[in-house]
Amino acid sequence: MTQQTKYKRVLLKLSGEALMGKDAFGINRDTIMQIVGQVKEIVDLGVQVGVVVGGGNIFRGVSAQAGSMDRATADYMGMMATVMNALALKDAFESLGLKARVQSALSMQQIAETYARPKAIQYLEEGKVVIFAAGTGNPFFTTDTAAALRGAEMNCDVMLKATNVDGMYTADPKKDPSATRYETITFDEAIEKNLKVMDATAFTLCRERKLNIVVFGIAKEGALKRVVSGEDEGTLVHC
Ligand code: UDP
Repeated sequence: MTQQTKYKRVLLKLSGEALMGKDAFGINRDTIMQIVGQVKEIVDLGVQVGVVVGGGNIFRGVSAQAGSMDRATADYMGMMATVMNALALKDAFESLGLKARVQSALSMQQIAETYARPKAIQYLEEGKVVIFAAGTGNPFFTTDTAAALRGAEMNCDVMLKATNVDGMYTADPKKDPSATRYETITFDEAIEKNLKVMDATAFTLCRERKLNIVVFGIAKEGALKRVVSGEDEGTLVHC
């Protein structure tokens, strides 16, 4: 049954690390099932969901560059890592009875459709979860930028950035117990206070396209549902 939610179409950004759980690298099955379970809750409310997944749990181009690899080559490897995560997510969604499609920014026809905007929008309208893999398809970018890009292209109402902290704080809550969470903050205030939400390219694109961002912790049960229902969860970065 479709209920009234604050957002009708969302772009969920999951970092690669979010899939690791307590493991040192790779994909933790319990963690991924916890995340897709939360996505199912909002799909059941009638929310259309696009997902951009990172690859940092498997490979990160910037760190490989530090090991003297050619940056562009390392970045393509990073993008391939996001495809592995996307396939794992699709499998997990389907195990819960959800319909999911992977669209990759790099062509690899045997395992995923190549990204095509009209088709992706059609899937969203049909209630399928669309997982956008391979970032933007270009080196020197991040999956945060891919999330901003796909969020804008899909005309999403908001970008939901899942992190391991339950929002944005006045200081690092792990180091400073007096730190308080911002319920809402404007793009300008975030810049002024030098609060890092995501990399500058991604942040600028969101701001320019007026794509608001909610930063929230996905490890907390029911957090995603509370965010889309407009409850006080995470931090809303708005225009
Ligand atoms: N990447 C890229 N172009 C993109 C998106 C990602 O080259 O448009 C590469 C880059 O090497 C990056 C890696 O893929 O380090 C994994 O993405 P990201 O670091 O954003 O993943 P996350 O931190 O979200 O796990």
